[in-house]
Amino acid sequence: MLPFVWSDECLRHEPQAEVWIGTRTPATEVPARALAIRDALLAAGAQEIPAVPHDDSALLAVHDPALVGFLRTAWDEWSAADLPSDRVVPYIFARAELTSGRVPATPTAVWARPGLFAYDTMTLIGPGTWEAARAAVDVALTAAGLVGNGERVAYACCRPPGHHVTRSLYGGSCYLNNTAVAASALLERLGGPIAVVDIDAHHGNGTQEILRDRGDVLTASVHVDPGAGWFPHFLGFAAESDDANLNLPLAPGTGDEGWLAAVREAAAFAAPARALVVALGVDAAAGDPESPLEVSARGYREAGRILGELGLPTVVVQEGGYDLATIGPLVVETLTGLAR
Ligand SMILES: [Zn+2]
Repeated sequence: MLPFVWSDECLRHEPQAEVWIGTRTPATEVPARALAIRDALLAAGAQEIPAVPHDDSALLAVHDPALVGFLRTAWDEWSAADLPSDRVVPYIFARAELTSGRVPATPTAVWARPGLFAYDTMTLIGPGTWEAARAAVDVALTAAGLVGNGERVAYACCRPPGHHVTRSLYGGSCYLNNTAVAASALLERLGGPIAVVDIDAHHGNGTQEILRDRGDVLTASVHVDPGAGWFPHFLGFAAESDDANLNLPLAPGTGDEGWLAAVREAAAFAAPARALVVALGVDAAAGDPESPLEVSARGYREAGRILGELGLPTVVVQEGGYDLATIGPLVVETLTGLAR
């Protein structure tokens, strides 16, 4: 009976769309994702645990209070301003070079404020976005609490995902970094080092940048090569690897064999840790519309087995995965491998 943590609040975020290369396209990070995962877990006999509310202390250990404050009020301020867009979307960005490194002014215009905190145009904020993102943090913290109290594996059904969010910037369909919050909470509870292994199809850039310089967290990410033209484009390269961080970029088209070899390498890197957080994206699967990797369901089960063999207390945090027909079964496969 593997415990999985759930909150209905995570369904409240409805981005509707993404603005990608100037074009408004339908959102892929939809509430049905979480419902599909929940259905598959219940059918597989997993035990649903309701998320417990937590205060902001763990959240503020990994995020700039200004980002959290912005997200909390962004929709209310935007909707009160009666703007032509039905979602919060940036149009101007406060790049550090714009002010020669000085702290930029807080814009008077509500429609300019997202540019202080967003790093892309595809991560829209609407009614319910804050409530869902904040609930996902509670889901992650509840799962971390279960593992801190002796459960070997707990799964956090977080939505929206979080691994692209840095300390002070949101993007990549992510608002708050659930994985980094879980790692920080485990660190507090169990001591270091803690390892984070990210097997989402995309590089866990936010998690890497938040955690890598702490000295008590090991971060590893297996993902499609950003050099082949994939998000997050600016980082995720092998050259960023050091004693505390391992990036394993893979060529588009990589299937089970190459992907699992990288997962084994990431697991070996994580082995010295006292506890593990798995950032589980199932978008590396063949057939997922958001990535060119070709991993099978059997591959995900084997990845779970490899990570489970470490024998570490493990929190699994949901990240990406966009094929509604397979997202649930793929999560079940991974957890089955992990919890054996
Ligand atoms: Zn992804």
